[in-house]
Amino acid sequence: MRKNIVAGNWKMNNNLQEGLKLAKDLEAALVGKKVNCDVVIGTPFIHLAPVAAAIDTTKIGVAAQNCADKASGAYTGEVSAAMVASTGAKYVILGHSERRAYYGETDAILKEKVLLALANGLTPIFCVGEVLEEREANKQDEIVNSQIKNALFNLSAEEFGKIVIAYEPVWAIGTGKTATSEQAQEMHAFIRGVLAAKYGEKVADETSILYGGSCNAANAKELFDNPDVDGGLIGGASLGVDKFMPIIEAF
Ligand code: PEP
Repeated sequence: MRKNIVAGNWKMNNNLQEGLKLAKDLEAALVGKKVNCDVVIGTPFIHLAPVAAAIDTTKIGVAAQNCADKASGAYTGEVSAAMVASTGAKYVILGHSERRAYYGETDAILKEKVLLALANGLTPIFCVGEVLEEREANKQDEIVNSQIKNALFNLSAEEFGKIVIAYEPVWAIGTGKTATSEQAQEMHAFIRGVLAAKYGEKVADETSILYGGSCNAANAKELFDNPDVDGGLIGGASLGVDKFMPIIEAF
């Protein structure tokens, strides 16, 4: 069966000392708790190695928020998938809408990043989602379908089995405006159908599809209760243990 996952995305928040404290506080809060999901934290690059060394990464997985679309070489300022993997991180968030919007990440670039992440043993948490104008024009299915098709459908079924999808309607990210439980379930079921048509029911059934966009302690349970919602990618509410733990415990 597919896994339930609650993954935090710290974005560009927390200096190293603050990030280490947050990771250790989360680990302490999880002691003695029986949680029904995998827990992941997506930290800035510089936090990856010290955070992975400071916590038990079999209990809290560590994720990068990006990796380069090139394997190695003269790409000043970039961080490769191999470097990410060498820190002890097991995941990489790819295709976040902030990367697409502010750093020009296209489906073609993301396709390369996904391949490099997989080649280095990382699990991509691949983000898809429509902007407000697309939702208002009822184009969300078309947009999400093309994001998945263009960046992921070159993968074999075996490779695709290692992908986690995060549906993040862009209009819901950091806005306090969550998709309704019905909107989330409808899109997650649509995505699962797209995956089934390409890779078959088994692969589709086994793919974890997370919801992201202003998910918090108050709405997590209702969202996660949907049959096709397998957890969340959590931005703002992952920056405090008091806010993140109730989301983890919503399962
Ligand atoms: C995100 O950045 O992936 C996200 C879902 O952010 P927030 O939870 O703050 O909306």
